[in-house]
Amino acid sequence: MNKSLQVKLILILGALAILYSVKSLLSPTQSSDFSDKGTWYRCQSCGQSMQISLDEVTAFYQANPDRNGTPMACPECKIGLVSPGQKCPENGCFFGSAASLQDGRPGCPQCGSALP
Ligand SMILES: [Zn+2]
Ligand SMILES: [Zn+2]
Repeated sequence: MNKSLQVKLILILGALAILYSVKSLLSPTQSSDFSDKGTWYRCQSCGQSMQISLDEVTAFYQANPDRNGTPMACPECKIGLVSPGQKCPENGCFFGSAASLQDGRPGCPQCGSALP
């Protein structure tokens, strides 16, 4: 193989590798850690916490296009708005964002138990 052809080949392979990595960065990852059960939400009105799947959220905005960009209405009371959060695996407390415990680990701001 002559030298310049070899260089060209390396350049092409390099470009392909870059293209491939950019493509995999841009394309949405079909990650499996998105559980089917959905995200935890809590109603700001009735205080009910519930798990709402992405399908339900999509269905809500399809049925209520005027609500796009605003929080979803509570499926329980239909009045309040729900805000996303997390559920404490230890005691089932609902919280918006994890607190950091004294040892620096993320923890539940309600009961102080460490999060996995
Ligand atoms: Zn509600
Ligand atoms: Zn808790």
